[in-house]
Amino acid sequence: MRWAFIGASTIAGEWMVAAVRSAGDEVVVVVSGDLARARAFANSHGIAHAAADEAALASLGVDAIYISSTNEKHEASVLHAASLGLHVLCEKPLATSLAAAQRMVQACARAGVVMGTNHHLRHNSAHRQMRDKIQQGALGRLVSARVNHSVYLPAHLQGWRLKDKGAGGGVVLDIAVHNADSLAFLLGEYPTEVVAMTSNSGMAEGMEDNAMSVWRFPSGLTAFTHQGFNTPFADVGLEVHGTQGSLKGVGILHQGPDGRLDFKNAQGEQALPLDQVDLYSRGVQNFHRAIQGLPHDMADGQAGVRSLAVALAVLESAQTGRSVAVQYPGAAA
Ligand code: NDP
Repeated sequence: MRWAFIGASTIAGEWMVAAVRSAGDEVVVVVSGDLARARAFANSHGIAHAAADEAALASLGVDAIYISSTNEKHEASVLHAASLGLHVLCEKPLATSLAAAQRMVQACARAGVVMGTNHHLRHNSAHRQMRDKIQQGALGRLVSARVNHSVYLPAHLQGWRLKDKGAGGGVVLDIAVHNADSLAFLLGEYPTEVVAMTSNSGMAEGMEDNAMSVWRFPSGLTAFTHQGFNTPFADVGLEVHGTQGSLKGVGILHQGPDGRLDFKNAQGEQALPLDQVDLYSRGVQNFHRAIQGLPHDMADGQAGVRSLAVALAVLESAQTGRSVAVQYPGAAA
């Protein structure tokens, strides 16, 4: 498959060029708002074409587009790609509003193209094993979950995420969307109600760099989630607890296939072996499977809308000091 990359971004350079190539695909062109940066990116990654305008896509025989510009720019690129009949893999959060995210999904559906949201964590071996154990009933009746997802934003990423609300800055849109998708992947349900508090420890300007929230799910399970940009020494992890057993993943919320996963029940505690499959490569493979109409683990466009809906509800709860019912447009929760 031949890909266009929209955005000469960090994630594209660090992970996605290699992920696409690992599936046997080609990155044909990179498009940036700045032609010099597009050319520099193309040169350093061995990409044949660089452009400052997405109009270039029409003549390059492209099959799919990967969008990793800042969040407020995703919609225009998705609508353009759909108009060209290109399959779309878009970064999270899909957009900065639910209406925009919904328009993106609808445009892809009308064009008959596949739309994926790049929620990479569900491709982690730990996530897949946790889902399987839960589905097998090994935990009994599920009662609670905890997501410790407070990291330290590295210096080279301390730009728009901390300063630009219009671009979708702030830790909630950046990380709570991942937590919503991870829990939905494991539990098979999305929260109906959230309560949250956010804070600014001084890293961010005019927005939050830390958020804690509690989510209630239709089954009655409650989950605690902690999102942060400001904790250099905190461990990340995800736990799910049931009446018959508990799963505890530590370090499993990174970009690489790191971490360990333990299962504990009345018989004792055992470490579950994790594979070392690259999360983003598996994501691209599953994008292929979706295009081929095969069963897949990809987060589709609607999953991206839903994870955004949860994050927006977290922000609303923090702003109003109230519990907020999550609004999922266009589909039952
Ligand atoms: P970057 O800040 O690296 O890039 C975002 C945009 O900023 C680029 O598209 C580029 O604009 C511009 N830019 C990049 N470098 C420079 C520079 N040196 N000078 C001026 N402008 C620059 O963002 P990320 O890669 O961290 O994030 C991009 C998207 O990917 C976001 O939607 C984010 O949420 C998502 N993301 C997803 C991850 C995942 O695991 N799924 C992980 C990290 C990010 P232009 O388009 O004009 O080239």
